[in-house]
Amino acid sequence: MSKPSFLQMVKNFASETAKYVKQGAPNVTEAEYTERVQECDACPHLEREHMRCGLCGCAIENKAKWQTADCPDNRWVKHIDLNGRKNADSKIINEVQSPDTED
Ligand code: SF4
Repeated sequence: MSKPSFLQMVKNFASETAKYVKQGAPNVTEAEYTERVQECDACPHLEREHMRCGLCGCAIENKAKWQTADCPDNRWVKHIDLNGRKNADSKIINEVQSPDTED
């Protein structure tokens, strides 16, 4: 996958925004957002100067929050789909969100 042109980046971001708004603007959990940003931080496609994905051109700050957004390189784990169903790989999120029950 090559680096998108400026026009393609604008189109990609507009498409992601439309999808997000159409679904009612659902966001991921704080833990999933953190996990996504960590994936981006370790990714060779991240353009650090502008904090954009080098494959789609979208701003990571927005893209990582939006439940409707996907990583174009399949580096993000989807924990909950748009119908609220948990993915089998949701163990990490559950561990992060579990309250400490030991006293
Ligand atoms: S969205 Fe995916 S491909 Fe883009 S920078 Fe993040 S991890 Fe890398």
